[in-house]
Amino acid sequence: MTIVALSAAETGPAELPQLEGVRAAIRPGFLVECGWDAESGVLSPPRDHPLLGLRKCARQGCLAGVRSHHVELCKTCEARHRSSGMSLAEFVLDTSVTRRSNRGERLCIVPRCERPSHTYETLCSTHCTARMLHRELSASEWIRQEQPTPLPSHGPCRVTGCIRVAAMRVGLCTPHGTRWGVDRRSGLTSRDKDALAEWITRQQPIGVDHLVILTGLPDRLIAEILLGLQHRCDEGTRTPLTVLRAMVSSARAAAVDNLPDLSRVRTTRKRHDAEALARSLATSVRRAMATPESEFALDVWDLATFGARGMLDFTAISQSWLRDAAKHWAAEDLPLHRGRQSGATAKGVIGALVYLSESLRSTREDHGEDPARLGRRDIVNFSNRLKHFEHTGSMTALTRLRTIRWVRRALDDARGFHTASGGSCSPTCLTTSR
Ligand SMILES: [Zn+2]
Ligand SMILES: [Zn+2]
Ligand SMILES: [Zn+2]
Repeated sequence: MTIVALSAAETGPAELPQLEGVRAAIRPGFLVECGWDAESGVLSPPRDHPLLGLRKCARQGCLAGVRSHHVELCKTCEARHRSSGMSLAEFVLDTSVTRRSNRGERLCIVPRCERPSHTYETLCSTHCTARMLHRELSASEWIRQEQPTPLPSHGPCRVTGCIRVAAMRVGLCTPHGTRWGVDRRSGLTSRDKDALAEWITRQQPIGVDHLVILTGLPDRLIAEILLGLQHRCDEGTRTPLTVLRAMVSSARAAAVDNLPDLSRVRTTRKRHDAEALARSLATSVRRAMATPESEFALDVWDLATFGARGMLDFTAISQSWLRDAAKHWAAEDLPLHRGRQSGATAKGVIGALVYLSESLRSTREDHGEDPARLGRRDIVNFSNRLKHFEHTGSMTALTRLRTIRWVRRALDDARGFHTASGGSCSPTCLTTSR
């Protein structure tokens, strides 16, 4: 996978919450529910988890997951079913051709043999070779008759994060061993003795359909992914494991250590769903960690923190006193509304204050930065400006009236805040002039 470098504009400010805070926000009960094993670093949600589970393929012996609600078989089995001419009921019970089924990893069936199976008969490679001398016997008959010696394990696979056991002396599991062989034959690795160690550093763990391997990722990223999943589950949002696995794969390739950075990574792979999931999880983490106080300090508010929908953007209000007044006003007003449109009034008022800000900026020498110097003339200018917009057709009469009403309302309230804080305020002059 190729990672496209981030441009300077895309690398936004990253004020990250403390790792301890992120960890503390994850409920132990959720970790149990989602099947998180901190020791192995593997997430294995129960198959029947309503939001994280990956339903198993209906075919006997196939462990692959089913990606869509309206099908019963995994992709491989689906294709094979179409060409088999069997009914679905016959096909799911048919075990005659199981060679290509996705079974995950299984150990050799020779009693006490610790090596992974190599063939559809579930024998390790050494026992498979020995068994070839007795082709007339089935695998179980051969084991009974020959009583082969069990073999000790080669240890875990050497690829970071790979949860399989090594199938060969060099310390690679079967799939990684196959990839290593292919890369060597096609000349993608050098022939020197350090080639394997270098090749291993470039590999990703082998995915297993209903598991997501997080081990090997930075601690912060793991904590953020778990907190993000918890938040999505709390909101009743489904997270397909296949997409989560693709996202984790991008994180490994890009070597990022937090979700905000991952959400800005663009890959050349066509996994827009994984990119969207990274953005969604980053938002979930931000929301899970945000408080109204922390949001107040920002110039763009995520209204979810206040129980409303959408964003509230104060950046177009250039005068700091007016921006402050607008924030105070919004923070007081938002809790007064409920429902899907509860942020609508605040958005309307802030939009109106943006018009006022523009007017002060373009008509005053000090651009309206000093509230003590504002007066009646400024509100007349503002009013005339809106009138001009109405004449030129860029604003309706209704919007003009509503804008004036909203500005008056916000400034009246701002005067209240200012008086309460013991200052003298020119918003008074503005609001008494109309
Ligand atoms: Zn299947
Ligand atoms: Zn064996
Ligand atoms: Zn491996």
